[in-house]
Amino acid sequence: MPPLSTNTPSISFEFFPPKSEKSAFELLATVQDLARHNPKFMTVTFGAGGNSQRGTLETLKNLQKAAPVPFGSHLTYISLTRRELDHYTDLLWDHGIRHLVALRGDMPQDLVWPLDQDAEYYQYTSDFVEALLKRHPFDISVGAYPEKHPDAPSLDADLIALKKKCDAGATRAITQFFFDNEVYYRFLDAATKAGITTPIVPGLLPIHDFTKVCSFASRCHASIPSHLHEKFESPSPSLAEDLISEQVEDLVKNGVPHIHFYTLNKSVPVSGICDKFNLI
Ligand code: FAD
Repeated sequence: MPPLSTNTPSISFEFFPPKSEKSAFELLATVQDLARHNPKFMTVTFGAGGNSQRGTLETLKNLQKAAPVPFGSHLTYISLTRRELDHYTDLLWDHGIRHLVALRGDMPQDLVWPLDQDAEYYQYTSDFVEALLKRHPFDISVGAYPEKHPDAPSLDADLIALKKKCDAGATRAITQFFFDNEVYYRFLDAATKAGITTPIVPGLLPIHDFTKVCSFASRCHASIPSHLHEKFESPSPSLAEDLISEQVEDLVKNGVPHIHFYTLNKSVPVSGICDKFNLI
């Protein structure tokens, strides 16, 4: 892959709504620490990993007071009617949120979809992006899946879906996490061949708990290279930091213009990595 840029990449950080008062305090400290790296934006997830959807706006309001950073809200449409989404996006806009990460969300396993036969729902993320932009001039990110979304019949079909989301007006796509940068570079090449010109930002996940990451990765169909399994059999104390550090170093060397970190609400090891590579 040819070098993309010679500049230091900009960065962004993702958090999830805390589940207790104690973790809410810890999150404020994390956000304040990471804010000193001058991120382009920070985002808060919506209903992901069993988190309640109600916590997102509350969390955004608290974080907005804690750090002078542009905050974005993830928003999934699968379990909300168009009318509910209209109301909620107006509320976000009124609270100063100008960036949305627009997503389908995972299909409910145990429920019949659509939940309310008489209500209107979005069927595709591209339609959702289009409708959001008609309602307010948001900056919109969408998801991208370098190893194919689990529901997609093929990577080519998934790239067609990604192109539709980009053509609908997304400013950028943020990838699912990956642990082998070659997977990302191959995806960039495939996206370019598919006619996608929208920036595709790599999303990096620090491995705090290898067993949990393996289980999550298998649900998302994100592969874990065999050398990671070997390394985590007898991990050194700095293994998680070393691994993400290697990924960042390689991305910086290859001129990637922006890196997104799935922080899992912790400033370690991401903050140290930003210091190490002078990411500000
Ligand atoms: P989509 O683009 O909607 O794709 C889903 C499937 O539909 C794919 O198989 C795709 O190929 C297919 N498809 C899409 N459009 C079309 C079309 N027009 N025609 C035919 N097929 C189509 N989940 C949460 O619950 N909360 C979060 O906060 C959250 N944050 C995330 C952040 C990032 C950066 C990423 C990458 C994922 C996040 N997720 C989150 C997970 C996401 O909601 C799931 O992966 C979901 O299953 C897919 O949503 P999507 O909009 O990215 O996928």
